[in-house]
Amino acid sequence: MGAEIYHNDCEGCDISQGIKEPRAGGGIIELDGDWILNHYGGDEGFLGWLALQPRFHRMELTDLNTDEANALGKNVQRIDLALRQYWAIKFSEDPIRRVYVVYFFESAFEKSSDKYHLHIHLIPRTERFRRLSIRVEKTRGIEKVEDDVRLIAWNIHQLSGHEGFPSGYRTKPENDGNRREVEALMTYLRAYLRRSSTS
Ligand SMILES: [Zn+2]
Repeated sequence: MGAEIYHNDCEGCDISQGIKEPRAGGGIIELDGDWILNHYGGDEGFLGWLALQPRFHRMELTDLNTDEANALGKNVQRIDLALRQYWAIKFSEDPIRRVYVVYFFESAFEKSSDKYHLHIHLIPRTERFRRLSIRVEKTRGIEKVEDDVRLIAWNIHQLSGHEGFPSGYRTKPENDGNRREVEALMTYLRAYLRRSSTS
């Protein structure tokens, strides 16, 4: 358990070794404890939606060795801070109110050709998403209690497909303009996380 192994048929291993470029662009960022950060490239993704994964092939949290497990919390904390700092500079009118930490990893249960190892989604939730969430609920015919904002999190995979979603946050791979936004964000995060690693 915890060996420095890669699997040839694992896309996560290909990305962490630099063999394959992440779909959304921006490359990878190496973090303490042999963790790798890249921008998420799924269709439901948007600017700032990141994937955190071990550098080596792991399929369960219990597969992590001691160094990997110990580094996880600190890495999540540093990424949270870095994302908020970037938004404060770039999108100061729409601050990040939380970074969701999501570990589903349902793909491990699918008979898919896209094999992938353990990864954790880090998803920025900005102030503007509150209004979007309410509108998404109304289009589904669900009347919300005005002060009940908990459904933002459960709708997060739908938000980027909503017509009111900020165009500057869209990251579908065919959108070359926003690929540059992903590159800019990842360049900032790479420098920020390298700096704070030694402090
Ligand atoms: Zn792997």
